[in-house]
Amino acid sequence: MTNKILGLHHITAIAGNAKRNLDFYTRVLGLRLVKKTVNFDDPGTYHFYYGNENGAPGTILTFFPWEGIVKGKNGTGMATEIDYSVAAGSLDFWKDRFQSLNVKHGEVAERLGETYLPFEDPDGLRLNLVVSKNSDERKPWTTADLNADQAAKGFHNVTLNLRSIKPTATILTDIFGYELKEQEGNRYRFATDAVPTASIIDLVESPSEGRGINGSGTNHHVAFRVPNEDVQMEFREKILSKGVHITPKINRDYFYSLYFREPGGVLFELATDNPGFTVDEPLDQLGSALKLPEQYEAMREKIEKSLPQLS
Ligand code: ZN
Repeated sequence: MTNKILGLHHITAIAGNAKRNLDFYTRVLGLRLVKKTVNFDDPGTYHFYYGNENGAPGTILTFFPWEGIVKGKNGTGMATEIDYSVAAGSLDFWKDRFQSLNVKHGEVAERLGETYLPFEDPDGLRLNLVVSKNSDERKPWTTADLNADQAAKGFHNVTLNLRSIKPTATILTDIFGYELKEQEGNRYRFATDAVPTASIIDLVESPSEGRGINGSGTNHHVAFRVPNEDVQMEFREKILSKGVHITPKINRDYFYSLYFREPGGVLFELATDNPGFTVDEPLDQLGSALKLPEQYEAMREKIEKSLPQLS
């Protein structure tokens, strides 16, 4: 049997102030901080991972908060919207919550037969809460404010904005095992049957729109899930055979990664399930300590001093 991509693994975006980002995602949106580490290429910058209890693939949103970074601009060649799945009947609760917490949001609307509530994080990153028409049995992380009927369960889909959808669609269908399922206007919905959730990618075709510019409030890359490194390497061969450049395997401590820029301009990653976030912290303590990759452990004191204040 041919291996298929197992939906989304994580999405990585760029933020400004670290504390503001942490407060928004853990308190307002109610996700669990499952890992507090640094940017492996820039250890003076945090790397936050937010997810469900164990940071399961398909629930993980990660940020590089760069204080003072210039604001980005959404456009083509990037992921422009992240949709989280929530339980039916919870959107009014969320709208009231966003209202009372001064979160920029829109009205409840419908697309492709699903109701959703658009909102933005403090840096202007665009997100939606959506009631999926497929069942979503994932158990969300809950907080004092958010019970299981309200809390975000993980990704429903991500939207990629493209000048032309065809080259990206070909990667999704011919290599990743996705199929075109629905279309509404210039939005084309692709999904994989390999997993029940976090299985959807929407491609929006915007031929006259300018290219997006990375900066705070924009997405940096979209990571797709593979079970292990053997399958990851099979995909590497397939991508190379299409003439697309792809990196060697990189150890990210919590997963192994390959990166390539798909022909539509979006940075894609293939990330493994192994070893996961409990590799250096027990489940009940995830995110509580600053974790550093081995190469920076000797510089811990210096790094801790240079990182922004979180309290
Ligand atoms: Zn990544």
